[in-house]
Amino acid sequence: MDKRGILVVVSGFSGAGKGTIMKRLLEDYSDSYALSISATTRLPRPGESHGREYFFVSKEEFEEMIEEDALIEYARYVNNYYGTPKDYVFRELEAGRDVILEIEIQGALKVKEAYPDTLLLFVSPPSAGELKDRLMNRGTEDIAAIESRLNRAWQEAQGVENYDYFVINDDLEECVQEINNIIKNEHARVARNHAVIENIRAELKSFAKGD
Ligand code: 5GP
Repeated sequence: MDKRGILVVVSGFSGAGKGTIMKRLLEDYSDSYALSISATTRLPRPGESHGREYFFVSKEEFEEMIEEDALIEYARYVNNYYGTPKDYVFRELEAGRDVILEIEIQGALKVKEAYPDTLLLFVSPPSAGELKDRLMNRGTEDIAAIESRLNRAWQEAQGVENYDYFVINDDLEECVQEINNIIKNEHARVARNHAVIENIRAELKSFAKGD
């Protein structure tokens, strides 16, 4: 199979558990995947640190990155900027690792437009009620912020058809397995293996001539 990694975008309603899923996927399959770290202008939540969950930057710093064309994509989400720095993503893809971008829908569609072979996955909790409970129980945002996120979730739900796969996060283990399987299977697509197929054809042709 072709050695280059696949660019994978994972989106899903805020509170769908994407962060936990990604952490687990990387722990279980550390050789296969690299998780892109985004830049954001939002403030760190308790327990988050610069360079681990995000690069926390000022609005001015973020706008400088836009100017310098240093981002694959960026979007505004609930009054903050979020964007994906280019360098790391391209380096890891070349090294043969599948790079996962955990980004919201506007960004996902921009990435797909710029790089059409991107694999788009959408993660959802089993129900809207469950989503609301998870956001309330997280306890990191006030009611107004939770309402903005639920409102945003409703908007995002309109765009799910643009994605390649819809994965329900009910049981964490199963969800991680399913995502790993989807990505692994994606490597076997004919469209991603042109170089290997061409090599085999060329070799077969030389054998056939020898007959
Ligand atoms: P949170 O504030 O909960 O960490 O993230 C809010 C939303 O921004 C989530 O849906 C998350 O996936 C998305 N997000 C995180 N990083 C990026 C990025 O680099 N680009 C875009 N477009 N969205 C991002």
